[in-house]
Amino acid sequence: MAGSIVLFGPPGAGKGTQAGKIVEITSKPQVSTGDMLRAAVKLGSPMGLAAKEYMDAGLLVPDEVIIGLIQERLQEDDADQGVLFDGFPRTIPQAESLEKIATVSSVISIEVPDDAIVDRIVGRRMDPETGEIYHVQFKPAPPEIEGRLIQRPDDNEETVRSRLEAYHNQTAPLADWYSDRGLLIRIDGNASIKQVGVSVERAISRIL
Ligand code: ADP
Ligand code: ADP
Repeated sequence: MAGSIVLFGPPGAGKGTQAGKIVEITSKPQVSTGDMLRAAVKLGSPMGLAAKEYMDAGLLVPDEVIIGLIQERLQEDDADQGVLFDGFPRTIPQAESLEKIATVSSVISIEVPDDAIVDRIVGRRMDPETGEIYHVQFKPAPPEIEGRLIQRPDDNEETVRSRLEAYHNQTAPLADWYSDRGLLIRIDGNASIKQVGVSVERAISRIL
């Protein structure tokens, strides 16, 4: 299938966790704006430093920065059959810009209530060597790698509240926007990682 897929949902919904399965099935590369921004922060580029202020405060990075990143990324060869967007678009202006440069064939929305989100984000850990995402309670890492796990600086309870507010005010309206275009597939994300994986696979098999 040509065209891109959007993985949509609140912070901590499980987008990154489920992305690997979709990449495996569709062979589309994962394009995570969060990962791209964190790479820019690590490099210490002027864009990265400016973005960090927003990220640490739990606010969305300005649309023009994000759209610039995406325009550049979509010019790479591996993007010519479409990509899997993870964490993008997050505002209606981002979706409108995307419409002009790529075709979105479906949007998979992982739905999780706010009260489950805080626990997921505060307990999230990452393996810096492999990028694998773990959770202290819901997906514990094997003991041999536990010592090297890191926690994102924005994964604390205070920032989560701002991120959820940004999600409800700026991102959630996109669900209706995509639904109006007949592209939205809602799946229940308030279930085990394995069960959500089954729902994701089912959604993908419907669109392939
Ligand atoms: P997102 O990319 O949407 O921000 P992640 O995939 O990073 O979310 O998941 C957030 C945290 O919640 C991670 O620690 C992950 O291990 C955990 N997690 C993901 N899916 C589930 C689930 N279905 N049930 C419980 N915990 C989950
Ligand atoms: P999560 O899914 O846990 O919210 P991400 O890794 O997707 O985390 O994003 C981390 C932060 O990066 C966001 O809180 C926001 O500041 C910024 N960010 C990522 N993607 C976007 C985007 N499409 N638009 C604006 N800001 C973004």
